[in-house]
Amino acid sequence: ESFHDVDMGEIIMGNITLSRYTRPTPVQKHAIPIIKSKRDLMACAQTGSGKTAAFLLPVLSQIYTDGPGDALQAAKNNGQVLGKECMVKIFSEAIYDTKHCCHLLVATPGRLVDMMERGKIGLDYCNYLVLDEADRMLDMGFEPQIRRIVEQDTMPPKGIRQTMMFSATFPKEIQILARDFLEDYIFLAV
Ligand code: AMP
Repeated sequence: ESFHDVDMGEIIMGNITLSRYTRPTPVQKHAIPIIKSKRDLMACAQTGSGKTAAFLLPVLSQIYTDGPGDALQAAKNNGQVLGKECMVKIFSEAIYDTKHCCHLLVATPGRLVDMMERGKIGLDYCNYLVLDEADRMLDMGFEPQIRRIVEQDTMPPKGIRQTMMFSATFPKEIQILARDFLEDYIFLAV
């Protein structure tokens, strides 16, 4: 088991080494090839399983172009090292500014709906959509906001965008979201 089993490009591989990740965790071992094969994914994985890198690495490897300079603006700690030298602008909602283009946006549902409704962000170029901690978002009452985002007119439809959902548990409500948001998805439980 090695990160070298899937080709993610030299820069991403270098960043994995910089992060001192020696081997993929189980969710990474299974999710990375699925995401690289462009399939939709429903993954059941706990926090601490390495799930963030399980979607960040293959998505980064598909959106990055190498080049001089580090265009990274802000991210959670994972993204800062894994996205190094990728010419990928990662914004968190707190500092998102429409004057800049952005390749990867990390946002909570409430703030994202707010930005959409104030016309601060358009999702028409959203090629990859990750719903992380889906069960927690539902527990917190965010289902209406999540549906407003994903079912918005300008959002590319499922089957066109690639959609990945991560959740620690897989109750009925998550199964319904998976049915509505994912196209012909692979189910992974680790
Ligand atoms: P997460 O489950 O995404 O919250 O990740 C939990 C922690 O595991 C984070 O601090 C990651 O940086 C770390 N981590 C993720 N993947 C690996 C790996 N393959 N080897 C070692 N640590 C990792």
